[in-house]
Amino acid sequence: MKKELLSIIVLAYNEEQALQLFIEEAEKYTRDMPVDVEYIFVNDGSSDDTFAVLEGMSRQNDRVFYISFSRNFGKEAAMYAGLEYARGDYVAIMDADLQDPPALLPEMYRLIVEEQYDCVGSRRIDRKGEPPIRSFFARLFYRIMNNLSQMDIVDGSRDFQMMKRKVVDAILRMPERNRFSKGIFGWIGFRKKWLEYENVERVAGEMKWSFWKLLIYALDGIIAFSTIPLVIASLTGLVFCFIALMMIIFIIVKTLVFGDPTSGWPSLACIIMFVSGIQLFCVGILGQYLSKIYIETKNRPIYLVDETNITRDGRYEKAVHTLQ
Ligand code: UDP
Ligand code: MG
Repeated sequence: MKKELLSIIVLAYNEEQALQLFIEEAEKYTRDMPVDVEYIFVNDGSSDDTFAVLEGMSRQNDRVFYISFSRNFGKEAAMYAGLEYARGDYVAIMDADLQDPPALLPEMYRLIVEEQYDCVGSRRIDRKGEPPIRSFFARLFYRIMNNLSQMDIVDGSRDFQMMKRKVVDAILRMPERNRFSKGIFGWIGFRKKWLEYENVERVAGEMKWSFWKLLIYALDGIIAFSTIPLVIASLTGLVFCFIALMMIIFIIVKTLVFGDPTSGWPSLACIIMFVSGIQLFCVGILGQYLSKIYIETKNRPIYLVDETNITRDGRYEKAVHTLQ
């Protein structure tokens, strides 16, 4: 009987120093697994020598494949590309920096094959080595997200996971441009098991996320998976109408009872400023959704491949092929 295949998607953006360490560590654990293994490295438009390193690795090891983007499209796009190209019966997604321990791979595989889980995710139980302020905002984000989207997004969950083919196909049926994987993985359902591990610091290179990048990513995530901000905007409008009504009644009664001394323009100015501020804020929320619709309707590709040594339908070519 033909052995089943496990595709391991590895995301690499400026990871020239980590790649060799990664493959050595991963091979240690996958060598004895009862399944064929292929690595699909996604080079997300790195500006260092990641591509050259990958090419060298693919020449030495015929289980190593690469997809190299024409520019940096972001980790979400890289994951999508990996899933599109992977042809394995099982697919795992990992970071190249060894923060996702390959030591968990055999256990993930066992859980899927023996215990009938469809997907095994991983979650770190601490945030060791992370700045406290970042941990604080991360926790806040998970709380807001879970309240707003009615979806269970697990705090500390990583993108590191292994899944069956049917889960991959489900994710591929969500070709949205505004990709927020944690939401997508939660949305599709299926039987999922979480493995917990302690945070590991990256082996080499630098973290790619600045605080602002993370903040924008978090806001995009909320917009992608919840329309509650729109409801909040409408409710704010209603509340302000109600307050205005009360104020009108108050002023009419006051004028009738005490006469009409003209006063209070500073307070009026403040109120106008305040209310127009709220209006702009609500229009801004609308604008955010509108801009996402705009991007989606353009229907642009999620990523563009520059070079790869793997073809999309899974027939491998040894020669490098370039997208025309
Ligand atoms: N990454 C990517 N494209 C990007 C940013 C990051 O493919 O635009 C990859 C990166 O090479 C790494 C993984 O995504 O393998 C996670 O990035 P990082 O280690 O910076 O973040 P963290 O581990 O904190 O999630
Ligand atoms: Mg990392």
